[in-house]
Amino acid sequence: MEWLIVSLIIPLLIAGWVASDARRRGFSRNAIIGWFLGVWLILIVFLPLYLILRNRRKEEKEGKGPWVCPYCGRLYTEKTPFCPYCGHKLE
Ligand SMILES: [Zn+2]
Repeated sequence: MEWLIVSLIIPLLIAGWVASDARRRGFSRNAIIGWFLGVWLILIVFLPLYLILRNRRKEEKEGKGPWVCPYCGRLYTEKTPFCPYCGHKLE
């Protein structure tokens, strides 16, 4: 009986951590519930998946291109202090 408790409680604790981590990262309510249940029920699959995806999401938030130059309106993909097309200084 003990192994059953352990195999339910430990994933539940990890799922709880995943849910609070996802909330801090601004995931939607549905996404948080989905990750919570996924990690709880299929820990071995969803935990590594979450750890990969949460970092990808962070990169997006920090701003991965492409960006639009406010002066000439062209797209640029490399983070650069000057527009590669018109040479204006970018923020
Ligand atoms: Zn430009």
